[in-house]
Amino acid sequence: MNPRLRVFYGGSFDPVHNGHLAIARAARDALAADVALLPARDPPHKPGTAASAEQRAQMLALAIDGETGLRVDRRELGRSGPSYTVDTLAELRAELGADAPIAWLIGSDSLRQLATWHRWRELFELGHLVAVQRPGAEVDVVRLREAAPAVLAEINDRWLPPGALVESPLGGFALLPLAHLQPESSTELRWRIQNKEPWQEWVPPKVAAYIGRLNLYAGAAVILRTSHQSDCP
Ligand code: ATP
Repeated sequence: MNPRLRVFYGGSFDPVHNGHLAIARAARDALAADVALLPARDPPHKPGTAASAEQRAQMLALAIDGETGLRVDRRELGRSGPSYTVDTLAELRAELGADAPIAWLIGSDSLRQLATWHRWRELFELGHLVAVQRPGAEVDVVRLREAAPAVLAEINDRWLPPGALVESPLGGFALLPLAHLQPESSTELRWRIQNKEPWQEWVPPKVAAYIGRLNLYAGAAVILRTSHQSDCP
């Protein structure tokens, strides 16, 4: 029997936006894989999300409602302490077995920050890493050499075409091409909501309705961030 690649896509999703969804769909379609989206209960790099973990998970569920090949995996919500990706991947590896091809999906801004992630080199002992380009943080060998030399050194010999990831359980790196780069960010979205700028077109209608009903992100407590980071130690 052919092995099946399983793709996992973690984030704060505060809130989920169409950029997240486009990336999940692109990975699903290009890799012929199911994609699980994992809301972090306690994103290590973001001290206090604006919406609660449960609200972020509910928005994610609304965003992918009825969509083939996408699902929400709530495992990080049930774990106390910082939601480190390495712990999640270790759990998944234990569950799915040593031979299962597993990939973790990130944006290129996160790839540039990867060396700040908790026990980041161990990620490659647990699964593959797949990155997609993000506007303002595009990566290639030259740019990575400048912005993240340790990351480039780690992935240099791991580079695979995306279609080859299914042939091994772990240890590879792939850059997934996107037809269109996605400009959306949760930070910008929260800012727009708080400042009553147009924002609805950046999220699915059911998510917009949820945000409106709970009056999320409208108050002074909204935490605004300017840089894209991920999973610091
Ligand atoms: P924030 O603006 O608060 O940093 P975000 O929009 O980056 O939030 P996250 O939930 O932190 O949202 O992102 C989860 C993952 O999705 C990260 O790896 C991030 O790089 C990636 N990502 C988010 N938006 C995009 C996008 N527009 N293009 C490519 N990757 C993205």
